[in-house]
Order: sequence, then structure tokens, then C-alpha cells
Amino acid sequence: MNTLQEIQALRLNGIEDGSPIIIAGPCSAESEQQTLDAARALSAIGVTVFRAGIWKPRTLPGSFEGVGDRGLPWLQAVRRETGMAVATEVATVEHVHAALDAGIDILWIGARTSANPFAMQDIADVLHGHDDVTVLVKNPVNPDLELWLGALQRLHNAGITRLAAVHRGFSSAGAHLYRNDPQWHIPFELRRLAPSMTILCDPSHIGGKREYVATLSQLALDMGFDGLMIESHCNPDKALSDSAQQVTPCDLKTILDNLVVRSGSPFDNELALLRQRIDDCDHELLAVLARRMSVSREIGRFKRQHNLRVVQPARYQEMIKARLEEGDSLGLEPGFTQRIIQAIHEESVRQQL
Ligand code: PEP
Ligand code: MN
Repeated sequence: MNTLQEIQALRLNGIEDGSPIIIAGPCSAESEQQTLDAARALSAIGVTVFRAGIWKPRTLPGSFEGVGDRGLPWLQAVRRETGMAVATEVATVEHVHAALDAGIDILWIGARTSANPFAMQDIADVLHGHDDVTVLVKNPVNPDLELWLGALQRLHNAGITRLAAVHRGFSSAGAHLYRNDPQWHIPFELRRLAPSMTILCDPSHIGGKREYVATLSQLALDMGFDGLMIESHCNPDKALSDSAQQVTPCDLKTILDNLVVRSGSPFDNELALLRQRIDDCDHELLAVLARRMSVSREIGRFKRQHNLRVVQPARYQEMIKARLEEGDSLGLEPGFTQRIIQAIHEESVRQQL
């Protein structure tokens, strides 16, 4: 049963109603000094909620896996010294116990954990009764709204009311502009199912590069996200994790100063939403075309090596016929399919030559 419509908007430390929630901090707490440096600089530019991962789920073993429990006192120091609320990622029951014992204000569930119903249920079970803690749930790595809903639902069923979602994009095969494909229609659908719940956007993990953070942040606010979680490090190039996507506190200030907060409820703005979906489709189309041409070049090399003709008319006729049928079954106008396929074929022959 979907009871997510009961979840109310989240109020956070130092953030006025109606203003975007800004959470910022390094991908990882690396040392006490680096953590406090980032926190002081961020506090000085008005950030009131600090993030830093201490248990880092890395895709590959051998990459920096976080400092673990010894980072907890550093987060406590941030809280004590700056008054910021502090947030860290939890992925196991042990992490939850340690974070709660240390008085961490906000726990977030990462994308690799929200994809795992067993882990989510374990976490929900230990959080039962801790109704003062705030929990943010990042979308699962794979573009599956049901998994995301399930993760939120398990926490909600455990009595967590200070609950919000974070959109950080989805892993996808093939070339994409961004590190994680935004697939904006998925958080939009979440909004429809949980209309009052706070939904934040994480432009750092979506973009994967610091130069995308400003544009994605503005886009997110225009699309009605309630706030942003942004990775910020005093020396991003030296960061032990996600170094390409972190911005300095100084750059973050510029990004935040330039953000335009429009009034109204833009999640209802169907046009912006539809345009974004068109943009996403075009990005995908271009990436697929680029892949198609690289295969064409490979075929060109193969044909040269084996002394074969570049255009083999029988193969061409067969291919056009098959594509027209396929297009037709997808509801595409045959004349349109033919023009597109011919243009692709022409370019492909050029590439093979
Ligand atoms: C992070 O926030 O640093 C992180 C690991 O995020 P995600 O789970 O979105 O990959
Ligand atoms: Mn990160």
C-alpha cells in the first residue's frame, strides 16, 4: 500500500520555509583538518547543513573506502563549532548504530543501498522508534522507481517521519553526457505519488563533472526540486573520492548566488518537464549515433582487410526493409524512418571509406 502521500515536507536547520534546502560538504571526510576546513568555509557562505561520507561504498575495491567510525568525532566537531546539522551515509546496521550514538542529525541511504531491499529492511528495523532522526533516501543505481518507493516505504513503515528523497541519477550503459543519467521523469513520478515529500537533487553525482553543477542546480530548481545536495571540497583536485565533480566553497558561493529561485510550483510545469524529456531523448539519440558510427568505422576496417565492397546492395535493401518494418511497428511514419535510415546509412558509408 502506498502511504507515501502522508510524508510531509522536511524542515531543516536554518532553512526558511520556501527557500531551497542546501546541503553541502565533501564527498568524503578524509581527515579532521579537511573536514573542518570545508565545514568552516561552507558555514561562512551560509550553508547550514553539512554532508561528508565516512563509510564510502566504492564500486571498485582498492579505491578510498572512507575513514570509518573515526570520522564521527570530526562530524561532532563540525556540529559543535559551526552549529551546522551534520549528515553522513549509512549502509549497514552497524553504521546506523554508530551514527545514532554519535548524534548525527541526518542519515542518508546511498544509491547502492537503496537498491537492496534486504539492507533497506535491516536499516528500517534498527531505525524503528528513532523518530527524531532525519533520513534521506537516494534513488537506487538502477532506474527502477519501485525500488526507490520500496526503500522509502520501509522507512515510513518503521515510523520515520522526517523522510526525504534525493535524486542522483541512474547508472546506464553507453555514452551519456552525464555520469548518471537523470531520467527526470522518475523523480517526477515520485512527486506525483508523494506530493508533499521533500525531493532534493544531487547535481554532483548526476553531472560527474564540476562544470555541470551550476546548470544542473538551476535546472533542478526550475523543475521544482526542493533543494540541492552538492559536493564541496577545499581542494577538489586532491579529493580522495569524486574529485572531478567537487566544487570549492568559493565556487559554491557563486553557484548559489546565481541561482534563480522562481515562485510557484514548477513540478506542475508540464512544459518544462516535457522539454527536459525531449532533451534527454536527444542526448541519447546522439550518443547512439556516435556509437553507430564507431561500429561503421570498425566494419570499414574489416572490409578493407578482407577486400570486400563497402556497399553491398543486397544487404542494404534487406536492411532498409527490416528498419521500415520495425519503425512501422513502433508507430513511426514510414517516410520519416526511410529518410533517417538513409541519412544514417550515407554517413556510415562515408565513415567506412
Ligand atoms: C555520495 O553521496 O558521496 C555517494 C556515494 O552517493 P551515491 O550513493 O549517490 O553514489
Ligand atoms: Mn560522492
